[in-house]
Amino acid sequence: MLKNDQLAEWDRDNFFHPSTALGAFARGELDNRVVKTASGVFIEDREGNKLLDAFAGLYCVNVGYGRQDIAEAIADQARELAYYHSYVGHGTEASITLSKMILDRAPDNMSKVYFGLGGSDANETNVKLIWYYNNILDRPEKKKIISRWRGYHGSGLVTGSLTGLELFHKKFDLPVEQVIHTEAPYYFRRDDLDMSEEQFVAHCASELEAVIEREGADTIAAFIGEPVLGTGGIVPPPAGYWPAIQAVLKKHDILLIADEVVTGFGRLGSMFGSEHYGIEPDIITIAKGLTSAYAPLSGSIVSDKVWAVLEKGTDENGPIGHGWTYSAHPIGAAAGVANLKLLDELNLVSNAGEVGAYLNKSMAEALGEHANVGDIRGEGMLCAVEFVKDRDSRSFFDAADKIGPQIAAKLLEQDKVIARAMPQGDILGFAPPFCLTKEEADTVVAATARAVKAVLG
Ligand code: PMP
Repeated sequence: MLKNDQLAEWDRDNFFHPSTALGAFARGELDNRVVKTASGVFIEDREGNKLLDAFAGLYCVNVGYGRQDIAEAIADQARELAYYHSYVGHGTEASITLSKMILDRAPDNMSKVYFGLGGSDANETNVKLIWYYNNILDRPEKKKIISRWRGYHGSGLVTGSLTGLELFHKKFDLPVEQVIHTEAPYYFRRDDLDMSEEQFVAHCASELEAVIEREGADTIAAFIGEPVLGTGGIVPPPAGYWPAIQAVLKKHDILLIADEVVTGFGRLGSMFGSEHYGIEPDIITIAKGLTSAYAPLSGSIVSDKVWAVLEKGTDENGPIGHGWTYSAHPIGAAAGVANLKLLDELNLVSNAGEVGAYLNKSMAEALGEHANVGDIRGEGMLCAVEFVKDRDSRSFFDAADKIGPQIAAKLLEQDKVIARAMPQGDILGFAPPFCLTKEEADTVVAATARAVKAVLG
């Protein structure tokens, strides 16, 4: 076996890590961690550290680590048929079965699943399908996509543009011109603290309406949003937000893409976030929880309404000019089938709802009164703690103080618990696997309280 120091050296010399401070890493100012194995909610590195992963990788290992049923399904598939493409009517038992299982669980009026590999490419597919849709309907001007500030939809060219976080635009010449951003439903950070939730929802809807009027409804194709904002800070919407947004979109004949990459397949304690909030999307993006990350697989679930137009388009123009070599890869599909079976057999969606509520409640009890805790929020197995310099004014700490990252680092160092310092603001995020027990939730909360005390007193 290779020595750890040899691997560390090769790592710094050869490996281009995503979402990493490249210079600092190459110079050794940033630690590397070589992860070796994992089971349940714990990962283990090559140094022998066992860490409680309260972020499920990148909120994706929903059924927990080390599930042999999924590993065996992958191995069986690889032995029987590692690959065949899905162009011109080809498929495999796994890909066809999985498409049926997804549609059986999806909201009503959904028609077909297009498979990709990750959330970014699925959202790229969605935008292309919507452009195609409006070209077939002879509305060539109706192409712009509205997204929210703080939304996260990937890091490709269009999807990085849809993502409403500065870091993903800066120095990349993004956003592209077809993408427009509107207000996030971030009640805690509203400009006017006197606004009630109801007033804030009306404000978000009227901001959206103003954007549409400014640009012209005949230029806007779709609106994309996560049922709960994820990477932008784990922000559940205020009550009534989705119906209010949907009413505006319907009025202007604008399609709705629900990006359920994080919320799909149970994270909110419901199978889909759309079901949870009464959203009626035209397209749903799925990825992460589809396979619990045992293999890369994503999907675009297309509604009857969109499908009817796509079908007409290919009758007129020949096959759709959109496909990946690895669309519906059999190994990903086999992992998806086994994963969705496991979710049902172990009742993991209801566990996500129940233990998630417990985690949120316990976090609020432990930290709700702390002078630097401004907000504790969550839904299902998502939870966030937002730190402020001053509770009344909700003022920010100096970004250079890196309070969020410091607390996450302390949590890891003191109690070997992984949470995520969200990329914008001092927000500590939790998104554990759905198999988290109440005892493990207690461990996470106690460790967080200790880390907060160590950094902020
Ligand atoms: N949409 C959402 C809501 C996401 O959270 C993510 C990833 N965090 C993506 C899209 C992009 O997925 P991927 O990283 O698999 O491309």
